[in-house]
Amino acid sequence: MILKCDNLSYTYGVGTPFQRTAVNNIDLKIEEGEFIGVIGHTGSGKSTLLQLFNGLLKPETGKVYIDGIDIWEKPENARKARFSVGLVFQYPEYQLFEETVYKDISFGPKNMGLNEEEIDKRVREAIEFVGLSEDLLEKSPFELSGGQKRRVAIAGVIAMQPKILILDEPTAGLDPKGKEEILSHIKKYHEEKNSTILLVSHSMEDIAKYSSKILVLQKGEKILFDTVKNVFSKSEELEKMGLSIPQITKIFIKLKNHGVDVDTGIYTVEDGKKEIIRLIKERNNSV
Ligand code: ADP
Ligand code: MG
Repeated sequence: MILKCDNLSYTYGVGTPFQRTAVNNIDLKIEEGEFIGVIGHTGSGKSTLLQLFNGLLKPETGKVYIDGIDIWEKPENARKARFSVGLVFQYPEYQLFEETVYKDISFGPKNMGLNEEEIDKRVREAIEFVGLSEDLLEKSPFELSGGQKRRVAIAGVIAMQPKILILDEPTAGLDPKGKEEILSHIKKYHEEKNSTILLVSHSMEDIAKYSSKILVLQKGEKILFDTVKNVFSKSEELEKMGLSIPQITKIFIKLKNHGVDVDTGIYTVEDGKKEIIRLIKERNNSV
């Protein structure tokens, strides 16, 4: 088990009129190599939970274990957690600040105390992983497009080769093509490195397409943590939380309600296509 937390809670503004419990008593176990989609209404505690996982926030109660090690047991453990759990914030491009793309991507590996040769290797590998050309390395980040900047920021985290890569709404504000590019490169990174990924997204389509399991948060609590199929089969429960299911699933549920004998457990367009082809073949055979 690569990531575990017990009784994890966090409250902002303790003792002030703005006191707010953002994460409430969460238990979770995540295995190495899993791709976890994280969903929940705005304010449900997603970003707070992710910052507890990489040691940026200290729990009010409870524990976080990375590879079995309590990250707050010793001061140096929390520092190490920041390297082994890479967190890509929302709008990470605002954190680019160096003169060149190269310097920005190498910032994390440098902090880890790696030698020049290793840093160089990692920078080049990371920029390739996000699908950008090495020609961009000597440019200023400010010469790049929005989507390119976002990818440089992600490369900076990938270059630390974190065991767990956490992405907090990594495609927010990008056009569909930019979204697709980023997510397909994250998927490739996941497959080639067998790294563990946590992805926050408001797109149920993206969650269904990439995740193996889904974590559903509401008002700081873990409501569901299960396979894509089991979570999206609870469409009414999700709707009550202001969440949705993939469009394609809605279509298949409607078809079923209209008397067409389809599988309603369809969550991606790819699976929808297969199901329609199956249906057509079946009809052809029966005439
Ligand atoms: P999400 O990422 O799901 O939108 P957050 O973790 O950002 O949720 O927020 C959870 C709750 O904590 C919300 O009620 C939010 O208003 C509150 N919160 C988040 N960040 C802060 C902060 N820095 N100070 C005070 N309250 C905060
Ligand atoms: Mg958030």
